[in-house]
Parts: sequence; structure tokens; C-alpha cells
Amino acid sequence: MNSQIVENLRKITGADWVTDDLSQMQSYLQDETEALIRVESSKDCVVVKPSSPEEISKILTYANEIMIPVIARGGGTGVCGAAVPIKPSIILSLERLNKIVEFDKKNLMITVESGVTLANLLEELNKQDKLFFPIHPGDEGAQIGGMVAVNAGGTKAVKHGIMRNHVKALEVVLPTGEIATLGGKLIKNNMGYDLLQMMIGSEGTLGVITKVTLKLYAKNKYTGTLIVSFDSRRDACDCVPKILQEGITPLAIEYMDRPISEKAAEHLGTKWPATKGSVDLMLMLDAKTEDELYDTSEQIVGICEEHNAVDSIIAETSKDQKEILAIRSNAYTPFKDHVADGLDMAVPPSAVPDFFDDISALSEKYHTEIPAVGHIGDGNIHNFILSDNGKLPSYYEEFKQEMYKIALKYGGTITAEHGTGKTRKEYMPLQFTKREIQIMEGIKKAFDPNGILNPGTIVD
Ligand SMILES: Cc1cc2nc3c(=O)[nH]c(=O)nc-3n(C[C@H](O)[C@H](O)[C@H](O)COP(=O)(O)OP(=O)(O)OC[C@H]3O[C@@H](n4cnc5c(N)ncnc54)[C@H](O)[C@@H]3O)c2cc1C
Repeated sequence: MNSQIVENLRKITGADWVTDDLSQMQSYLQDETEALIRVESSKDCVVVKPSSPEEISKILTYANEIMIPVIARGGGTGVCGAAVPIKPSIILSLERLNKIVEFDKKNLMITVESGVTLANLLEELNKQDKLFFPIHPGDEGAQIGGMVAVNAGGTKAVKHGIMRNHVKALEVVLPTGEIATLGGKLIKNNMGYDLLQMMIGSEGTLGVITKVTLKLYAKNKYTGTLIVSFDSRRDACDCVPKILQEGITPLAIEYMDRPISEKAAEHLGTKWPATKGSVDLMLMLDAKTEDELYDTSEQIVGICEEHNAVDSIIAETSKDQKEILAIRSNAYTPFKDHVADGLDMAVPPSAVPDFFDDISALSEKYHTEIPAVGHIGDGNIHNFILSDNGKLPSYYEEFKQEMYKIALKYGGTITAEHGTGKTRKEYMPLQFTKREIQIMEGIKKAFDPNGILNPGTIVD
């Protein structure tokens, strides 16, 4: 990186917090996207670690003067190349903004600096047992700012929604250097356009998030995890709307192909508890009383049995529940090396069975397996395109686009929670009209007239 740029950044943050040494920058140049579809990162970068919004403001003002791209860097756990610099860039790591600012129990809210990791947040909340935060994407190394920037989802969206539903206020440094406070500790707020919601999911293209106020929820004392097994995907899928129609809202309803659960359990040195059937639903439940928990479980099992469930198991101890969740969170880990691309489509929940049938037909057409796990209660299925002896299969592009088109046919989306990033940007025209993309480009220009924030992500 140009030595003058490095020097000027050192003047802003102090010399210890700036490096353009490739060996020290290596872990900032990629994210957790599958190796075979990673975008190539520029090596001509400099990593800077500011300690305050004021320093970030100076960095962005300077970047605008010299027109150099800036990439906000959270925990680097993203899976769509959003945090990868594809041009010579300043990589702005939020890791030093790591303080819990205020735990406001009366308003059921917590304010944290954006570099606080999910693990740090959970640790803070675990010091008490009344309030909890529901969003849990699989990797606790994700930062809260990063989770806001990608509008993370995870397992518990059935009952509690996604990141967007829990962000009450943000402090953001705009690409032009001004510091803005969006939203507040309010239940109702209709003044003006909602820039807070615009910022959520903008993947570091509209501003650098420096502070986040999150809504918390009262904990239910009793929790349980139910595993219900089936011989067919369709039977498992058909139960989901029936359960919800009965007024039962589990924290999570997850779908898992059995070979995936077994492999993930083996990888963790444990055993998947279900043995009968070939696919499972995993339902996470919470309740105010033990009786309520059992009644709900029985009701769910009853509905599933009407749809040919072959077995059911309930995990009640927190150790067993954690073990099952760990298996679900690691569903992908053991065969990561064999996956070319982990897709993230969603369809309306009622369309999942037809979506699965179409995907199965595609699997036959291309003579390949398409393993699947998913947040089935949210209609969000992760289908995996397998590699061909460590390489992208020759049919990869055509195959992937056929899958995308199946999701879109059912009113779905190409990405439900992982984001557009750089790996899915080129597919925007499959999902949006020209005019819709033009409006998004206009929004980007209004926030970031010189296009310095995270170029090549979502829109240009
Ligand atoms: C094993 C595994 C399982 C996962 N499971 C799930 C899941 O179930 N659900 C789910 O939703 N996700 C899941 N993810 C994806 C991932 O954890 C999320 O995308 C995460 O929320 C990103 O946060 P991060 O701090 O790592 O951001 P990064 O990867 O560092 O960055 C992601 C994007 O956010 C921007 N950004 C980061 N911080 C800021 C900031 N302060 N201000 C502005 N922009 C910023 C970056 O520029 C980039 O565009 C999983 C990932 C892994 C590795």
C-alpha cells in the first residue's frame, strides 16, 4: 500500500493500529465463503483498527479525499464474500470497539459497540437469568455490527424473527464522515424515512456501524428440544404449517437430512439421538411451566404422527439440548471440504414441500446428491452443491441458476440470511427488475457519492 496512505492512517489511530504487512493482514482478506467460490482479494491493502467513531469519521473523510475503497470488517464469519476487498482498500476493522455500553433492564434493551462479538454479548447476558437475545447465527465470532450489516437470521426466527426485528438504534459513521444516530429506545417512531432499517442488511455499503441498541426478551424458564423422525421429506414438511396453525410457535423448527446429522454428530465425537426414519425435524421449545412444555410437546408429536412420523425424542436437560444444537450448528462442518457452494434460498413456508420435490428432480437430472439442512419454519433451506473431486463441477453455474429459478418461481429469494455480498451480486437481475436495481443504485449514491464503501457488493 502507498506509504503516504499508511502514514496518514497512523496519524489518525496511532502507529500500533495500522499494518500493510501481508502476513499480518492475511486473516482480514477473506471470509468463510466456500473456498471454490471465493472472490479474489486484493493484496494491496492496509488494515486499520480505530478505537472510536471519531477516528472512523476521520478515516472515511480521508478516504473520500483520496477516493480509496473502505471495507468495514467484523468477525469475518460472513459467507458471501461481502467483507473481501476486491480492489486496493483500507480494511477498517471494528475489533477495538468492543465495549458493552449500557444494559438497560428497565427498557429490556442493551447497547453495545459494534465490535462486540456474539460470544461476548451472550457472556454478558448470562450473568443474569431474566433477559435474553434470540438471534444466533452459527458462529459466535460474528460481531454485533456484522450481524446488523448482514441482517443475520439463524435458528430462532420462527418465534423471534431476524436481526432487523430487534435493532432499536444505531450509531453509524456515514461514508462522507458524518456521525449519525438512527432510531432510539422507542416502540413507535414514524418520523421521516426509516434510515435505520435501510442500514440493516446493507453489508457495509451505506455506512460503518459503531454502536447498536438491541431489544431483549424475558426468558422462559423451561426449554426442551424435540426431534421427530420421518421416512419422507414431504411428510416432515407438511407438519410445519399444521403445528403453526394450532397456535404453537416453537423457537425453532429445523429440518435435517439424517446423513448430515449423523456426520455432524460423529465429527463432534457424539451420536445423533434418532435412529428410525431418514429425515428429522428438530423443534426448540420454551414455556413458562414444565406442564406447558410437556403439553406442547405432546401436541406436536400428535400432529407429526398424523403425518406418518416414525419416532420422537425429547431432550430436556440443558446438556442434551446444547449437544443437539451444537450438532445442528455444525451440520455443515464435516463436509465443508466437499461443498462447492452452500445455497441459502427461501420460499414461503407452505411452498417448501414443492420446492424440495423440484430440487429432488434436479438432483436426478444432474446425477448428483443435493444434501439439505434448513430453517424449515422460516422456509429457508440450505442446499449444498457438492464439489467434483475438489473442483467446481462442470455444470455448477447452470445447476445453481436452475435452483435459484425454482426458489423464485415459488415467490422466494436467492438469499434469505447470508446476504448478496460479492458472490451473489451478479444474480440481482434474476430477482429484481431493472427499475428496482436502479432505485437501489440511487440509494447507494445518496449515501456514498464517491462509492468508497465496499465496492462490488450488492450494487455499484
Ligand atoms: C459456521 C457458520 C454458520 C453460520 N450460520 C448462520 C446462520 O444460521 N444464519 C445466518 O444468518 N448467518 C450464518 N452465518 C453467517 C455469519 O455468521 C453472518 O453473516 C455474520 O452475521 C456476519 O458477521 P461478521 O461480524 O462476521 O461480519 P463480516 O463477515 O466481517 O462482514 C459481513 C459484512 O458486514 C459488513 N460489516 C461488518 N461489520 C460492520 C460494521 N460495523 N459496519 C458496517 N458494515 C459492517 C462487512 O463489510 C461485510 O459486508 C454462519 C457462518 C458460519 C461460518
